[in-house]
Amino acid sequence: MTDRPDHFETQAIRTQVPVSSEREHAVPLFLTSSFVFDSAEQARALFADEIPGNIYSRYSNPNTDEFVRKVCLMEGAEDGVATGSGMAAVFASLAAFLKAGDHVLAGRSLFGSTVQILNKLFPRWGIESSYADLTDPESWPALIRPTTRMIYVETPSNPGLDLVDLDWLGRLARERGLTLIVDNCFTTPYLQQPVRHGADLIVHSATKYLDGQGRTLGGIVVGRTALIDEIRFFTRHTGPALSPFNAWILSKSLETLAVRMDRHCANALTLASRFDGHADLEQVRYPFLPSHPQHELARRQMTQGGGIVVIVVKGGLERARRFLDAVQLMSHSPNLGDTRTIVTHPASTTHSKLSEEERLRVGIVPGLIRISVGLEHVDDVTRDVEQALARSR
Ligand SMILES: *Cc1c(COP(=O)(O)O)cnc(C)c1O
Repeated sequence: MTDRPDHFETQAIRTQVPVSSEREHAVPLFLTSSFVFDSAEQARALFADEIPGNIYSRYSNPNTDEFVRKVCLMEGAEDGVATGSGMAAVFASLAAFLKAGDHVLAGRSLFGSTVQILNKLFPRWGIESSYADLTDPESWPALIRPTTRMIYVETPSNPGLDLVDLDWLGRLARERGLTLIVDNCFTTPYLQQPVRHGADLIVHSATKYLDGQGRTLGGIVVGRTALIDEIRFFTRHTGPALSPFNAWILSKSLETLAVRMDRHCANALTLASRFDGHADLEQVRYPFLPSHPQHELARRQMTQGGGIVVIVVKGGLERARRFLDAVQLMSHSPNLGDTRTIVTHPASTTHSKLSEEERLRVGIVPGLIRISVGLEHVDDVTRDVEQALARSR
């Protein structure tokens, strides 16, 4: 093909390792830890970065490179680095740059382990963090310190589904000379491309929608070349490499990302609409429901509402526990972004390490249940939510 295909779905399917002498149709798996040199001169030149090529699978591997190239095309990013898990990507995106005395300004509502890095690990190395409300942009400028180097956000947040205006945040970061990192796990590049709003780095837990079938851990950081070069140096020497096998799975998964996300979003919108205003619920939250407080912003920066619906049951913690125990079809698991619908109670599991006050500040009330809406028939999911609500009364 002479021109690079410019449609998302085509890129996801037709970006691949060159076909070998076997003329295989599916991409082969390169389960090799190292690669051989043709000559002493080639070995020298490869190590001197004078020519491209694989040396050792901690640095690069054809399957990993294919996965990275695809995600870069899909996100509109220049370059990227894949890692063994989402947290390795999150850690590398920050730790590759920060030094003692630096400060990170983060959105208040973040994935639990990201909070642990910022609150518990970084302070050991003299790196400070503070948090800002996603929904209160006016409060942000005053929170930027002379030592602030990075802004780190998730939008929509987990599990509160709060949004931050990425155009506005991209401008703020640029004006203040800060690196903007966006964890784009909840939306995937199919629904939202933060690079187009001025983000410098995008991180993903590929474990979630990028795989989408609950099979493997993986992570990736993509973004501007100069920044990715520093992250590549960091990961090459600290070693959180993605395995070629997992990269092969993830690259294959991306071939179906668009169709899977279309269905996740359609099912989630149907489920959210059906339960909005339900007598047993205090609240239903979904970015594409008109009742979402940032509905307009969601329509502006996301192409669809995503696959996560949040419900708040009337009756608090006890009702929520009865609901979880009454579920029949849906899985009760901490994961999300799977073909299978998953229910999670953040207050007692994924966000239990936060104090009650911290949880309430990001809207995690005791009756809140996160539903990662899967690809089963939405009528069956609806019936399960309905019967679990009835049995938990
Ligand atoms: C799951 C998740 C992570 C961490 O990813 P792992 O692959 O589990 O290490 C980071 N950010 C968000 C938003 C997540 O949902």
